[in-house]
Amino acid sequence: MSKKNNFVNVSIRIKPALNKNLSKSSCLHVLKDNLPVLIVSDRPQTYVFDNIFTEDANQEIIYNNTVKPLIQHVKNGYNCTIFTYGQTGTGKSYTMGTFSQPNRDENEGLIPRTLASLFEEENECEISVSFIEIYNEKVYDLLTNNKSPLIVKGFKVCNFNNQRVFTPQEAMHFLNMGNTNRHTGETKQNTKSSRSHAIFTIHCNSFNGINAKLNLVDLAGCESVKKTGTQGNSFFEGVNINKGLLSIGQVMSALSLDASYIPYRQSVLTTILQDSLNKRNYVSLISCVSSLPEDVNETVQTLEFAYRVK
Ligand code: ADP
Repeated sequence: MSKKNNFVNVSIRIKPALNKNLSKSSCLHVLKDNLPVLIVSDRPQTYVFDNIFTEDANQEIIYNNTVKPLIQHVKNGYNCTIFTYGQTGTGKSYTMGTFSQPNRDENEGLIPRTLASLFEEENECEISVSFIEIYNEKVYDLLTNNKSPLIVKGFKVCNFNNQRVFTPQEAMHFLNMGNTNRHTGETKQNTKSSRSHAIFTIHCNSFNGINAKLNLVDLAGCESVKKTGTQGNSFFEGVNINKGLLSIGQVMSALSLDASYIPYRQSVLTTILQDSLNKRNYVSLISCVSSLPEDVNETVQTLEFAYRVK
């Protein structure tokens, strides 16, 4: 079970049971030896990942082990991408820090921590931020009130807002502004279920001419279309969400296997991330899972996805 490559770092985060009165039984067991191993109750397969963050891992631990090592790579001119993947409600947005959290310091996720760290040091680069959303295979600029989709030419999105920022607070202002413009829909699973992929990008243009970016991608929920009971338009949303998720999996496994053909064109998500998703750059995937016995099928699907891209 050796690691196939080191361009993608794959982590699992197990969501803590928030309601302590509910059943404490867990379908996941972690063994820590040289590499952490995850075992699912009553299932034969065991999984090895780069990191397995158990229920007690806080936001700082997640940041230190995922994005923090990427910051120097961005400063050295490499594009870096971090994804949160998983079933709706397992903590993708909480982990990413896409939405402002109460009790901020302790709860703040990857985006605010990354911004704080980038501005902490001497300003070696000009920083700007953009925030786009992919919904139903179309790209929307979340930093404008204009609701028409953006045009994609080749693998580039045209005319999106890229806001120069001088402080972390200014960047957070654009994050919050973008969130109010997001498409969310109601499914049986979670009324705040997000049906779109949100990409917050921090662009660093250094004074010595090195340009790079860090893409922080909060993916749509990966629950199956069937389970969420979607009909009509929502059914097509489901198909389109799956298209993005499926192609992310296919692109990353093709890269891991050194395939000669990488299927970037199968979805808008992989098309526009083409300049970052390749072996010259760095990618980190955090798969969020529930340990509740009733979620075991989704959890196994999420683990299988994470295992395949490694
Ligand atoms: P998703 O984005 O996967 O749908 P959310 O990030 O919205 O899920 O998480 C669902 C709820 O669980 C939110 O209220 C969030 O604050 C909470 N939550 C998720 N993960 C954790 C965690 N590790 N610690 C504390 N609360 C969490």
